[in-house]
Amino acid sequence: MANIIDGKKIAAEVREEVKREVAELKARGVTPGLAVILVGDDPASQVYVRNKHRACEEVGIYSEVHRLAAETSQDALLKLIAQLNNNPKIHGILVQLPLPDHIDEKKVIDAIALNKDVDGFSPANVGNLVIGDECFYPCTPHGCMVLLDKIGVDPRGKKAVVVGRSNIVGKPMAMMLLARHATVTVCHSRTRDLAAECRQADILVAAVGKPELITGDMIKEGAVVIDVGINRMPDGKLVGDVHFESASQKASWITPVPGGVGPMTIAMLLKNTVEAARRA
Ligand code: NDP
Repeated sequence: MANIIDGKKIAAEVREEVKREVAELKARGVTPGLAVILVGDDPASQVYVRNKHRACEEVGIYSEVHRLAAETSQDALLKLIAQLNNNPKIHGILVQLPLPDHIDEKKVIDAIALNKDVDGFSPANVGNLVIGDECFYPCTPHGCMVLLDKIGVDPRGKKAVVVGRSNIVGKPMAMMLLARHATVTVCHSRTRDLAAECRQADILVAAVGKPELITGDMIKEGAVVIDVGINRMPDGKLVGDVHFESASQKASWITPVPGGVGPMTIAMLLKNTVEAARRA
């Protein structure tokens, strides 16, 4: 039976760490500041933004939320980002995605100053991540790496398989594992034999968005399984991309859903904001 990776507990530890770091920075006269921009009234986005604001308050990070109407023009949004780029109180800027259709998401993300891109989604930040220069690690895959570290699993020399190649999870995850000297395979919807690829993995990261796609028979005995997936079932229950019951018969460590990777994402956003303030 696998050990459970307690993301809730580890995220709380990270938030405590951040709290101490914020106190140290404040003692030097710097209060880390995060600006979150929300365009429109998507209910899920509103919840995420509220949670981010609350999490900032809890650790002493100054946070301001800019709520803009859905019909806000792209120019107005770019103007606000330019102001925040020049605002010394603000060290991190986050634009909650998705944006309304009339706004070019790429243009907006690219307008965020590189040293304030705490989400880590801009092309320049991603480029730095790939070449191993100073950058911000995108929060969700960064959270996965911290989970591995906290349970004492070093990716060096291990075979890692990442299922999913999105820009926000799969690709940066693969890059971070590579930077930590894992041998990395990235699988996606065109992968010919997903089960065979997964069975090679010492570390398996699932970021697909397909409920319980990965079952126990696809997991190598003793593997570490990190399930990024969050899928809401018709009965309201949340499940991951991994079939937890069968996978935990084979894995040595596994993240539950909920309570695994989920809580780490905001914790890593706080961490990145403090890092941005420290660099400034
Ligand atoms: P995307 O939809 O952007 O990407 C999904 C990836 O999975 C794609 O690369 C796709 O391949 C691949 N894929 C789809 N079907 C299959 C299949 N049958 N076999 C193999 N690969 C497949 O999703 P995200 O990366 O944004 O999110 C993934 C999951 O993680 C979702 O459940 C999401 O809710 C969750 N998530 C959780 C977060 C957290 O905080 N815990 C944060 C972000 C996401 P292709 O590229 O070929 O289409």
